[in-house]
Amino acid sequence: MSEVEARPSNFIRQIIDKDLADGKHTRIHTRFPPEPNGYLHIGHAKSICLNFGLAQDYQGQCNLRFDDTNPAKEDIEYVESIKQDVNWLGFNWDGEICYSSNYFDALYGYAVELIEKGLAYVDELTPDEIREYRGTLKEPGKNSPYRDRSVEENLVLFEKMRNGGFEEGKACLRAKIDMASSFIVMRDPVLYRVRFINHHQTGDKWCIYPMYDFTHCISDALEGITHSLCTLEFQDNRRLYDWVLENITIDTRPHQYEFSRLNLEYTVMSKRKLNQLVTEKLVNGWDDPRMPTISGLRRRGFTPGSIREFCSRIGVTKQDNMIEFSSLEACIREDLNENAPRAMAVLDPVKVVIENFESEEVLTLANHPNKPEMGSREVPFTREVWIEADDFREEANKKYKRLVLGKEVRLRGAYVIQANRIEKDEQGNVTTIYCTYDPETLGKNPSDGRKVKGVIHWVSAEKGLAADVRLYDRLFTVPNPGAADDFAATINPDSLMVKKAFVEPSLISAKAGVGIQFERTGYFCIDSKDSSPQALVFNRTVGLRDTWAKIEVQ
Ligand code: ATP
Ligand code: MG
Repeated sequence: MSEVEARPSNFIRQIIDKDLADGKHTRIHTRFPPEPNGYLHIGHAKSICLNFGLAQDYQGQCNLRFDDTNPAKEDIEYVESIKQDVNWLGFNWDGEICYSSNYFDALYGYAVELIEKGLAYVDELTPDEIREYRGTLKEPGKNSPYRDRSVEENLVLFEKMRNGGFEEGKACLRAKIDMASSFIVMRDPVLYRVRFINHHQTGDKWCIYPMYDFTHCISDALEGITHSLCTLEFQDNRRLYDWVLENITIDTRPHQYEFSRLNLEYTVMSKRKLNQLVTEKLVNGWDDPRMPTISGLRRRGFTPGSIREFCSRIGVTKQDNMIEFSSLEACIREDLNENAPRAMAVLDPVKVVIENFESEEVLTLANHPNKPEMGSREVPFTREVWIEADDFREEANKKYKRLVLGKEVRLRGAYVIQANRIEKDEQGNVTTIYCTYDPETLGKNPSDGRKVKGVIHWVSAEKGLAADVRLYDRLFTVPNPGAADDFAATINPDSLMVKKAFVEPSLISAKAGVGIQFERTGYFCIDSKDSSPQALVFNRTVGLRDTWAKIEVQ
């Protein structure tokens, strides 16, 4: 990361500070453990910034570990996208990439150790029966009839599971803990199940796969993780995390701490739901700019710095909360206001003909009003220009500081023009505005002292480039779509609007990933997938001001 970002303290840093002060640890080691079953989203960014950020600040280490114990849902495409997104956010993992599947041999060995200690057994209840026997929050569970098998029998049966001797669902390995525990996760949790599926890392070597709770704590210990940070829904699982580590022979002893997950208004954050949006083609892929995925935000024009800043502002606590979408937008708006060069684009064009201007001029405009170091660009000024349809009215009161029939306005960086007459189509829409310009007004006020207040943006009709400009609105119509019975039914049908726009010629060299302010209409970027010099496509990253508050009261 180039810039130094101050990270506020939080309860996890306090725990680490104490552990270091007490000598419980001399170094800190974290990990980010995504399951490669989807693309990363902004919620993952919170976890990435926390884990990698702590490692940076304490000069420790952070591993990237693929938690890949469920081959049915996982794919190498997801592995690749996750690596790319972590790097793009500005973080590097220490050492080799880790995979839980690297530990399948070790995990098998620890399972055998638990069996040998009389702490695990092969159960032949069906998955439905297991559920039934588990009990509820109010009622204790019942012991499986297979619970008291001998160690020898369990060892033989577990090996049989490994060798493909049981069909899926016919046998599993369970920890022998307490079927009456008030923590349901402690009621003899399943440690291994049979799955005849090829794994993206281990191929067909295994037909039994370890469960998350068994795998995660051991992977942490094998990697020497000191602080294993996860979200609050794993709070109860901490009992099992500790139980496994206390009952196997392993040197290091990581500890799990939970923090609240990020929820963002008007979006969903579960990979299962995001996957559904993609597979049902409700959006155009995982990187659709309306998606809360890292790749969607990148394509929308968010910068890594703006996402890190957002994660730093929301902080890390144990309180569940729902963050307003506008706080994410504020971060990118502040970034681009500082750093984005300015340009002109007309999104709803209407033609202006400047009847007393015959030639063509090349004007030089500053790229940023307050940053001369950002240089300037050349903008052609011609007899015909486009302006926004909304920037012209036949009549208007004094508050309207744009072009009015019979009155004057300044074209940004160019001359003052006056509208003299108009042409309309059959529907009564203005199609052409005939104007004259005042040749004495380039970069200065009219010499006779008359005042021209309004300034509007424009693009040369002869030299401007046609472009599709995509404007995005919230993807869902309700603040918490995840809570709806059918979240897909709450999709906003107008979340994407495409404008046939004209942009100034300098934008032919605009690059994907570099934000530009289109004067008066917002911050935009080239679409990294669909744009070409022959057919430019821009995405609106964010408007110039917060429009969410306004929408709210409608
Ligand atoms: P999802 O519910 O989106 O599928 P997950 O928790 O199953 O998420 P993982 O790939 O297991 O996804 O997550 C990797 C890490 O990211 C975990 O440590 C998880 O706690 C964290 N994480 C996932 N979602 C969020 C979120 N919304 N806010 C903060 N951290 C999150
Ligand atoms: Mg998960």
